[in-house]
Amino acid sequence: MDPRGTRTGTAAGPGADYQHRPRGWLRHYAGLAGPAGMEASQLAFERDAGQRLRLLGAAAGRRLRRRTPTMRSLVALPGGRLRWRDVPAPPPPGPLAATVRPLAVATCDMDRPLLLGATPLPLPVQLGHECVAEVVEVGQRVTGSRPGDRVVVPFQIGCGGCIPCRAGRQGSCRTVPPMSMYGFGLAGGPWGGALADLLAVPYADAMLVPLPAGVDPIAAASVCDNVADGYKHVAPHLPALLAEDPDTEVLVIGGVARHPVYTGSVPLYCGMAALALGARHVHLVDSRPSLRAHAERLGLAALTPAEVRRRRPARLVADVSADPAGLALALDGTGPDGICSSIGGLHRRARCRCCAATRGT
Ligand SMILES: [Zn+2]
Ligand SMILES: [Zn+2]
Repeated sequence: MDPRGTRTGTAAGPGADYQHRPRGWLRHYAGLAGPAGMEASQLAFERDAGQRLRLLGAAAGRRLRRRTPTMRSLVALPGGRLRWRDVPAPPPPGPLAATVRPLAVATCDMDRPLLLGATPLPLPVQLGHECVAEVVEVGQRVTGSRPGDRVVVPFQIGCGGCIPCRAGRQGSCRTVPPMSMYGFGLAGGPWGGALADLLAVPYADAMLVPLPAGVDPIAAASVCDNVADGYKHVAPHLPALLAEDPDTEVLVIGGVARHPVYTGSVPLYCGMAALALGARHVHLVDSRPSLRAHAERLGLAALTPAEVRRRRPARLVADVSADPAGLALALDGTGPDGICSSIGGLHRRARCRCCAATRGT
């Protein structure tokens, strides 16, 4: 070996026993500029064609390895188009986080209007925000779940430690930007959608809910959103009302337009929750014959919007129409001392017909 180490050569050439190539000043300063500069200078100053090819190959390999890993995600694009796209995969989870793989994803009543551009939410959107998933990886400080566990994933991001989270209002978490949620694109933040290979859960212990053994993930996929939405309209009030009068009538207002843009799962879940809580008279109003037929199969009494106007008011009314006309129908259909609640993005100004007040919603 030349003790000065200044000879150059290639594996096949006269200096084959040398791996080391001395740096000139240009290479030295390019090296200080970082690995990319070093690579460029090595290539620029390499006179041996074979060695240059090998360097090029090695640099391409390094670049490929450095590339952010990708995964598939179903993306809603303008024009009502749906495409599977390669998007960045979640990075390894931080200490409080987890990475999960969605097993069963339910469509939300919002997904169709979102796809059709009928909401103020801008496209493109990585779709899906209701899922049951399998835990793939957890951070060092996660204690509530382990890889392999099946979990319900809330669609809203909540830290579990701030005041609203501790009060059970994770949708108003103050640790993350307002409206942080999966499956709503820019409006919900950079959390991606559940119709993808993987999903990052930033606060695993606060968010993930273990799926009880024996429960089919498909049956529970909507629990984190639409089932809960339907339930919360009736569960807080119905037991006391039924204790007062076992024949308390429950009225659920679904789609009232000729062709409602929202699909109708929340009204059905709401009616089913009322039945499960013991109500004997649960009426579901919807303009769609197919949805009314579905409601009848589930044991609900179905009505058209015109029919409900001819009925006496009910004691407990849920407006699940996401339509100002549905809200007006619900208020008209609420009896004395009755309770009426409304859910769904109205996305426009709704006029209250009794007091003529106009409120932005
Ligand atoms: Zn939803
Ligand atoms: Zn929080």
